[in-house]
Amino acid sequence: MRLRHIKGAEELIANNRFVIQEPKAMRGSWHSVFSDAASEQIIKDPATLHMGEDSSRIDEPLIHPLHIEVGTGKGRFITELAAANPDIDYIGIENHSSVLLKAVKKLEDRDLPNLRFILMDAIAIEEVFAPGEVDRIYLNFSDPWPKERHAKRRLPSRQFLARFHNILRDEGIIEFKTDNRELFDFALDELKLSDFVLIDKTYDLHNDDRMNAGNIMTEYEERFSSIGNPICKYVIRRR
Ligand code: SAM
Repeated sequence: MRLRHIKGAEELIANNRFVIQEPKAMRGSWHSVFSDAASEQIIKDPATLHMGEDSSRIDEPLIHPLHIEVGTGKGRFITELAAANPDIDYIGIENHSSVLLKAVKKLEDRDLPNLRFILMDAIAIEEVFAPGEVDRIYLNFSDPWPKERHAKRRLPSRQFLARFHNILRDEGIIEFKTDNRELFDFALDELKLSDFVLIDKTYDLHNDDRMNAGNIMTEYEERFSSIGNPICKYVIRRR
């Protein structure tokens, strides 16, 4: 994928309050990032306290499930998801600052307390999340890395599945969408070499009423489905 560099993107990302600057320091205590953000929101906007509710709620630890998207791109998917599910905490991981900047801009417009971003290569994901800390992982339109010698860089590869296995809780879920049939077939083959089991799959998501229920389109999904590419999706569960 060719990426256009935005001048100053690194500095903007390094100073943005929605981007976690020292993610490795949060390993094992991600819930505190979100409970602090939720408390700030409550204090900033007293209207978010329901009528008659005790303000002691501010001191309650809020431990929500943690869902992450790896390769979040411009962030539409995870921003929509976070807005729709305030009781789930979300982290979008992206390794290009110019792309992440677009996701951050979307969050600045919405100011959601349950969504944050990390600028990093997901190869180091086990240094950022403790074993069992993550409940669900989304992989959307992951880069195909077509050369065979780059296969281990593909996010649904056995190498990445092993990393994801280490951070997911028991029975944690991975959802993967792509319009790239070769990458999807590769992903299904790699799955057989992993400690995950297939829960569901489709080769044409948008014409599969059951699997498409509640689907949120990503930027790539909209682009590729609009030119007629069917979207493949699998859901797998950690053993
Ligand atoms: N998920 C978005 C969508 O569906 O519109 C973006 C898809 S784009 C093809 C893939 C994104 O994943 C790129 O923005 C790329 O920088 C990011 N990415 C690829 N490998 C990554 C890695 N190892 N760690 C973090 N981000 C990665």
